[in-house]
Amino acid sequence: MKLTNHSFNEALLNYINQSPTAYHATYEAKQILLKKGYTELFEKDSWKIGQGKYLVSRNDSSLIAFTTPSPLTDGFKMAGAHTDSPGLKIKPNACKKGNNYFQVAVEVYGGPLLNTWFDRDLSLAGAVFVEMEDLTFQKVLIDFKRPLGIIASLAIHLDREANDKKSVQKQKELLPLLGITLTPNVSFLDLLEAQLVKQYPNLKFKKILDYDLSLFDESPAKIIGINEEFIVGARLDNLLSCFINLMAITSSTTNSLIVLNDHEECGSTSTTGADGSFLKDILLRICKDQEEYQRMIASSMLISCDNAHALHPNFPEKMDEAHAPIINQGPAIKINNNQRYATNLETSGIFTHLAQTVDIPVQKFSSRNDMPCGSTIGPITSSLLGVKTIDVGVPTFAMHSIRETAGIKDSFYLYQIISKYMHTN
Ligand SMILES: [Zn+2]
Repeated sequence: MKLTNHSFNEALLNYINQSPTAYHATYEAKQILLKKGYTELFEKDSWKIGQGKYLVSRNDSSLIAFTTPSPLTDGFKMAGAHTDSPGLKIKPNACKKGNNYFQVAVEVYGGPLLNTWFDRDLSLAGAVFVEMEDLTFQKVLIDFKRPLGIIASLAIHLDREANDKKSVQKQKELLPLLGITLTPNVSFLDLLEAQLVKQYPNLKFKKILDYDLSLFDESPAKIIGINEEFIVGARLDNLLSCFINLMAITSSTTNSLIVLNDHEECGSTSTTGADGSFLKDILLRICKDQEEYQRMIASSMLISCDNAHALHPNFPEKMDEAHAPIINQGPAIKINNNQRYATNLETSGIFTHLAQTVDIPVQKFSSRNDMPCGSTIGPITSSLLGVKTIDVGVPTFAMHSIRETAGIKDSFYLYQIISKYMHTN
């Protein structure tokens, strides 16, 4: 089926709504690929890679998929994104009962815009590690899929300065309210076990050993605007790019590869992050020797996709206006000569040419000289592998808010460019 702007964005919203955590984003990605005939590889097994379509995941929260119709020395058309989003994770000793309320302790993950987390209908999702009745272990995904709690604001009457100088005290103010403590003996693990039974009635487990859970905004991603111009929702950074890469590789005709890393929001240093060994391990493994590996890298290119800041009409002074992407005017090429972005002369030229061949506009992002820019997986992966790389992204408002805003044209534009790239020898 050929995707249109509308069908693409509807499928994107569905992917985001099904993926409250990096585990779910990886699981959903895997389902899309398996349906398209990809073979799942496991790192502990022996591999025989021929011409084919493969996927491999690590920690169930990161994923690499690749296709090999041609010799590896032709290189890969690579594209990357990240599965994680900043937010609030549940601490190990979660239960906090006091003043008759049942609350849970949270840890701030990455750099969320915290004041957007107040007064939202929050749910819980992630993974639990369970001991099974047959004494084996399993990691099981869990998603309550219903609003469970709220981080209530303090009323304006009790904080008269809230509209002028509001800051968030991270340890004190972020504990969500999950209920009234009517039953003093109910623990947080009891809640999880009940959910596990509800979600998997046939799972023969003995007990939950540990969990990795995140809060998320239960309201789904949507298309809004007078002319339906905008996508709004949680985790657009960077599930939007994960989905673009997934859709592009499923129709690729060249040697193509996508890497969806976890842990970008906390610096990428982990077994699953861009600063870990995952991608290099997989590439070394599928090449027969160092010579083939180096030739493959030299013939490859990586398009690192992560959202870009869009010019905010209420704060135009925050950006260099000549280099401030506008929503729905095309994906942005991110440029930073101090190497916060990996874009170079050649990759920028190749990407611009690709966009021109499919008649799609691109914009350039460069930050103000007096305002440092962020970074992403592009510079890390390019320096670890030595692969030429470009950093691009869909212009977005309110990055790291619990509800971000991007443009419906830009997501489809970037998909079309990456599809073209994975079709071009
Ligand atoms: Zn990002």
